[in-house]
Amino acid sequence: MTTFAELGLIPELCGALERAGYTTPTPIQQRAIPALLDGGDVLAAAQTGTGKTAAFALPLLQRLHAQGRGSRAPRVLILCPTRELAAQIDASIQKYGTALKIRSTVIFGGVGQNPQVEALRRGVDMLVATPGRLLDLHGQGALDLSQLQTLVLDEADRMLDMGFIHDIRRVLKLLPAQRQNLLFSATFSKDIERLARGLLRDPLSIDVAPRNAPAEAVTQHALDCDKGDKRRMLSALIRGESWRQTLVFTRTKHGANRLAKQLMSDGLTAAAIHGNKSQTARTKALAGFKDGNIDVLVATDIAARGIDIKELPQVVNYELPNVPADYVHRIGRTGRAQASGQAVSLVDAEESKLLRDIERLLGRKLPRMSLSEAAREAYANPPTPIEVAPEAAPQRPAGARKPRPPRGDGQAPAPGRRRRNRGGRGGGGRGRGQGEGRR
Ligand code: AMP
Repeated sequence: MTTFAELGLIPELCGALERAGYTTPTPIQQRAIPALLDGGDVLAAAQTGTGKTAAFALPLLQRLHAQGRGSRAPRVLILCPTRELAAQIDASIQKYGTALKIRSTVIFGGVGQNPQVEALRRGVDMLVATPGRLLDLHGQGALDLSQLQTLVLDEADRMLDMGFIHDIRRVLKLLPAQRQNLLFSATFSKDIERLARGLLRDPLSIDVAPRNAPAEAVTQHALDCDKGDKRRMLSALIRGESWRQTLVFTRTKHGANRLAKQLMSDGLTAAAIHGNKSQTARTKALAGFKDGNIDVLVATDIAARGIDIKELPQVVNYELPNVPADYVHRIGRTGRAQASGQAVSLVDAEESKLLRDIERLLGRKLPRMSLSEAAREAYANPPTPIEVAPEAAPQRPAGARKPRPPRGDGQAPAPGRRRRNRGGRGGGGRGRGQGEGRR
């Protein structure tokens, strides 16, 4: 078995990896680290979870370390689509580089720019950034890109999906022509191939992910629904389809609270998390959701940021987000790595413009979901409400059904049959639209 030292990493980095509990390099690390230490370009098909961050961060840290202290301008730029990912990458760099004197910082939009400007002024070797804020700060003269040696495009497919191609092209024009380029993407559309062709010189191709697999892993649907009918529809979907671990997004904190309570009165186990809840309450709700004691977590966009659950099967947009990119963030929480997931958006008439904006961002129409027979039955047979205490703990109420089939009227088929029927008469939500999803 190859070790990190055998790949050519210096003891300072190997020590940090040992402390982080990494014993063996992952396949992408085995291939990328030696190539990047040599200064070559790399084109990698890799999803989150493959160890791709360390695959580029470690050799780039080592090269900067070998060069010694530079000027204040960054020598490595890592562009990525979201602030969460940017923060994660920066945290990894800090972790791996503890024994080195490499300065790294992260800049992204949505927060005040002054601390970021200040950090750039102090000097930075590795810069992690989302494209918009990078261009803003460069436009203001707060960022010098003339010393750049290496550009990393991480999650390039998501960046294109989120409409960043023009920003990326603008950034490219600001960089020195002589540089090392790395492109990481989970999926490979024609646009990505074109971008890669224009960017990379004689790249080493690494493929540790089945190409375009995530596109099949997440199915996305819209479901037209009257505003006043959404709660009943959501409850019917969860009960009828036997959904577990459903993350539901609402726009407001109040809406999240109310919905969680209503779902509990339907006999489901639900909890709300949002900015008004104490950290303890949020942590508790999240733990319950992760270990399967809470089936439905109702969250606002902000509160959901920290949620990282492997194999989260269901995401529901109870209300569409005002910002189209938030849609991408929301559904990015399902179907991670090899797990499959489904994202459903309940869309009322007032939201049709929001849906159009999202579809424009995705570059395609969201297919409409057809209700399965089981969901139709659950919708037709709403449960008798259960009394829910005002501050009820999110536990399964005594005597409450698990969210399997609806109680119905005695005519409901047995769960086994229900399963087989899925995708039957009603067309089924699952299994349809395979290949239409994206990441
Ligand atoms: P990434 O694909 O970069 O998002 O990394 C996925 C996760 O794997 C992160 O939590 C890393 O800390 C972890 N990781 C990366 N490389 C290794 C390794 N060689 N051994 C163990 N864990 C790793």
